[in-house]
Amino acid sequence: MEEELRLLEEILYYSQQEPKRITRLDAASLKQCPTIYWTDEDAACRSNSINDGVCFVCLEELNPGQIMRICRRCKPATVQHVFHKDCLDWWFDIGSQCPICKISQSIS
Ligand SMILES: [Zn+2]
Ligand SMILES: [Zn+2]
Repeated sequence: MEEELRLLEEILYYSQQEPKRITRLDAASLKQCPTIYWTDEDAACRSNSINDGVCFVCLEELNPGQIMRICRRCKPATVQHVFHKDCLDWWFDIGSQCPICKISQSIS
C-alpha cells in the first residue's frame, strides 16, 4: 500500500513536470478566422466543394441559419475549410491547426 502511494506521488510529480503541449490559438489569430451566417445560398454553392457540407469537428451538417467559422489559412487559398463556430472555437481551445488539413491557423 505504501509502495503504491509512493508510486502515485511519483506519477503526480512527473505529470506536473510535463511541459504543456496544448497550444490554443491566440485571440489575434482567431480574429483572422471570420464568422459568417450560413445562408441557403452558402449551403448550396459551398456544400459540394467544401467539407462536403459537413463540420469535421462534430460530423454534422452545416445547415443554413447557423453561424460558421472559416479557416482562412488553409492551402491552397481557394480551399477554406468551414466549421460550426462553436465547434471550431472549442477546437481552437486545444489546438491551432485546421481540423481537416492541419494547416496552422496561427499568425504569430
Ligand atoms: Zn460542428
Ligand atoms: Zn483546412
